Amino acid sequence: MPITPDTPIRFLPGVGPGRAKVLDEHDLRTAGDLLWYFPYRYEDRRHPTRIADLGRHLDEPVLLRGKVISAHARLSPLKKVRLFEAVIEDGTGGVKLVWFNQPYLSEQIKRGDRLAVFGPPKLSSYGHLQIESPDWEKFEGEEEEEGSIVPIYSKVGSIPPRALRQIIGAALDALPSLEEPIEPPLRKRLGVIDLAPALEQIHRPPELDQTFLARRSPAHLRVILQEFFTLQLALRVRRAAEEVRAKKRKIVIDDEIRAEVRRILPFRLTGAQKRVLKEIADDLRGERPMYRLLQGDVGSGKTIVALIAAVIMIRNGNQVALLAPTEILVEQHFQRIRQLLDDSLVLAKATGSMSAGERRTLLAGLREGYIQLVVGTHALLEENVEFKSLGLAIVDEQHRFGVEQRQALFAKGDTPDILVMTATPIPRSLALAIYGDLELSVIDELPPGRKAIKTVVRTTPQLERVYDFIDKEIAAGAQAYIVYPIIEESDKLVLKPLKQGFETVRKRFPNRRVAMMHGRMPAAEKEETMQRFKRGEVDILVSTTVIEVGIDVPNASLMLIVDAERFGLSQLHQLRGRVGRGERQSYCVLLSDQEKERLELFAKTRDGFDVAERDLQIRGPGEFLGTRQSGALRFRFGNILRDYELMERARDAAIELLDREGLERSTDVVRRLLGIAEPTAKTRD
Ligand code: ADP
Ligand code: MG
Repeated sequence: MPITPDTPIRFLPGVGPGRAKVLDEHDLRTAGDLLWYFPYRYEDRRHPTRIADLGRHLDEPVLLRGKVISAHARLSPLKKVRLFEAVIEDGTGGVKLVWFNQPYLSEQIKRGDRLAVFGPPKLSSYGHLQIESPDWEKFEGEEEEEGSIVPIYSKVGSIPPRALRQIIGAALDALPSLEEPIEPPLRKRLGVIDLAPALEQIHRPPELDQTFLARRSPAHLRVILQEFFTLQLALRVRRAAEEVRAKKRKIVIDDEIRAEVRRILPFRLTGAQKRVLKEIADDLRGERPMYRLLQGDVGSGKTIVALIAAVIMIRNGNQVALLAPTEILVEQHFQRIRQLLDDSLVLAKATGSMSAGERRTLLAGLREGYIQLVVGTHALLEENVEFKSLGLAIVDEQHRFGVEQRQALFAKGDTPDILVMTATPIPRSLALAIYGDLELSVIDELPPGRKAIKTVVRTTPQLERVYDFIDKEIAAGAQAYIVYPIIEESDKLVLKPLKQGFETVRKRFPNRRVAMMHGRMPAAEKEETMQRFKRGEVDILVSTTVIEVGIDVPNASLMLIVDAERFGLSQLHQLRGRVGRGERQSYCVLLSDQEKERLELFAKTRDGFDVAERDLQIRGPGEFLGTRQSGALRFRFGNILRDYELMERARDAAIELLDREGLERSTDVVRRLLGIAEPTAKTRD
């Protein structure tokens, strides 16, 4: 029987029950799965470099083949690094290979072994050639592979590499019957080649030229664009599925509302705030539900914009929900909104720490429509929370929530408008990948009168001077945050460093009022502490990152971050944003004895978007976003930073397809693409 993509793996030559089981554990079940199990590198066994010629390939990776004539582990005399050294010989000469801190290699590489080695030859400090930490494989020296380009796959259990290559080679027989998930016109629009030849080339490249090795060959582009397109079309289809119904409510903004908004405003809006507000107001009046991401650096004034949108919605007879990630933030929003609005509308709070009675009142108020604006944590998303007519859902600090939460909120109304806000500036490349379905508004201007925060990096020996400085500033009326790197979300929360820090600070500042705060404190206590700090009854707040998000205490002008190297740049930026909110000159001190360079760079960077872009480059999208949102962004060859233009091309093609073919057909296309392209096995990078 001919092999097709659906052929179960156990029917492939070379696969018995044992191997079938191992493959299954790696999610490789059909010949089709294997087609997407890509090599992570190739060995050009047609022309291994002769060791005698190495000098001509200084610093460029080459393939060598030879026999190990000596191999031993030793300790480097200078740096106390454990070295493993081997010398290989190929008949034209010998060369030394060196690996660092991999003592177990002495179990794996022995005298007499034949090795294929891949790496750049370098001149050692003694002036002779050696290759440091090369890739290596025991050379299996099969005749038939002598003169070919050999794909190297990541290990699948204990299946020997050569056997795995043969199994995958057999699976390639399924290529002629592979379904092409992208029809010709779309293929043309995306500018990609057919799938079958693309897959064939990736497994069996006829040539290893630069474009191919850089993973930019037509074959690679086909895979990149297919994955990008799948993501973009899925995002669009999801949104379109929610938008099929036009909104029933009709929003008008009359003079009365305008007057009220003017009355509420405690200051003049910045130009950026006005522009963004207009974008939002247009959306609210539009026929389709709003789906908008509002980005603005910390302190750029997103809250007031959201609040005005809320007032517009409420005065048109609808309810509004504002979702925030922590109780502290909910409390802060609640207080500020109450201050601004007096008693002109009915405001409520929803948190996990409500009493049963408060809860009942809340649920009834929302269901009957009596409550007009509710500010809450995740408690708002619970199933028994129902609204009479939810017209607008606002999500603050969106990066703390996932798409599911956004959808849960959406489901609580009749096609409510959605506004998500984030202070973690998301570089445009990333925004396009994760929020390809959202409209984007950006507040790119800070309210007037803000003084730039002075950021400095200090080491432990300088700590005493930092303390002195803090003391002087407090004497002049300032307040300070001291933040310890304790990851609030981890299960194995270790508070000891925080408590010790708290004691140290208390001893060092006997005349100052010092308080401590962390995420595991009872909510009421946290809130009480925060309120005391806000009221100026606490001089120094020793804390974890619970203060990271959105807290606003204008009088706090000092931020000391301990062990700053342990934070990501975006997180540092968030923390820094807690100061610089008032009239006083603000300071952010990064205390660290490591990673001086990265921190100095951060100290010089003020713009949140620049910080984010850098952070993204250093840490990659997965880390940058946290695991919550990065799942959809794992691509085989695509890199959302480098391949921004391809992502744009994919998005535009997705929009066109949806327009032309409609929701149903487009959904089919997504399904077909996902059925084939869903990452079934991880390809090593
Ligand atoms: P974020 O965008 O980080 O959520 P906030 O909405 O908390 O920022 O605003 C930060 C501070 O700036 C608040 O104290 C707010 O009252 C103030 N603010 C916002 N807009 C303006 C403005 N146009 N003029 C002066 N102050 C403003
Ligand atoms: Mg905010």
